[in-house]
Amino acid sequence: MKLQHRIALITGGGRGIGRAIAHAFAREGADLVLASRTVAQVETVAREIADDFGARAFPFVCDVADVTSVDRLFAAVQEEFRRGPDILVNNAGVAESAPLTRTDDELWHRHIAINLNGTFYCTRAALPQMIERGWGRVINIASIAGKTGAPYIAAYSASKHGVLGLTRSAALEVASKGVTVNAICPGYVDTEMTTRAVENITKKTRLSAEQALDSLKQLSPQNRVIEPEEVAALALLLATEDGRGITGQAINVDGGSVMF
Ligand code: NDP
Repeated sequence: MKLQHRIALITGGGRGIGRAIAHAFAREGADLVLASRTVAQVETVAREIADDFGARAFPFVCDVADVTSVDRLFAAVQEEFRRGPDILVNNAGVAESAPLTRTDDELWHRHIAINLNGTFYCTRAALPQMIERGWGRVINIASIAGKTGAPYIAAYSASKHGVLGLTRSAALEVASKGVTVNAICPGYVDTEMTTRAVENITKKTRLSAEQALDSLKQLSPQNRVIEPEEVAALALLLATEDGRGITGQAINVDGGSVMF
């Protein structure tokens, strides 16, 4: 088992990609901390992990956009495990669309606050102990929208571009300390986030849900959406010893739609 004796903190661990990563890490022996705003969801995933793998899994309510809430989360992890996480997965995120001229301040700030500030707050809280121990992994779930633009998602895209800048700079700061920092950039993944994108398209166009989903699939040369487990498989590689030489990277899992 490749993650035995490791503690992994996964934000947004209550569903979708975060849940898939939780399962992949628990299968390899990691103990888990799962954080999100919806307590029932992180509790459910924690129960699944305990039942399926016998791993320790602690659910915590946290809003990553709120620095006080993040500080409380890290204090709770410290209390529970007597140390901070070895692996941090900054996965919590939101995605809403609007034309730029109709992007209001709230929508803009919500994306920056959750997707970018949340990643910063958690990384800043996690790094000192990782550096002290000489081992750590930070894995940021960004997006191919962090590498390229698309209409109607300026706030989301800007927040994810920010995550890549943070990833690269942090990676260089800690490269000599046994800590790696990487980003994963998925294309459309089969989660609630994509279901909401499909609903949004059907509301704003004449397309049926099936046609809307097809239009998203066609953005990929593989003509499909990615499964959350495919993102989790890469997160697992980055989290293990096998991934120790990979740092400062932003790796696409998108069926080849973006090639940089
Ligand atoms: P989901 O909407 O299914 O899950 C998002 C998770 O993030 C939930 O657990 C949610 O819980 C949590 N979350 C949202 N806001 C906060 C917050 N303020 N504090 C703590 N937790 C929060 O989406 P996915 O699983 O698809 O997305 C996971 C990540 O992957 C996101 O960063 C997303 O941007 C990225 N991504 C997704 C793609 C896709 O097509 N699905 C494509 C590319 C990237 P709660 O709301 O209860 O807090």
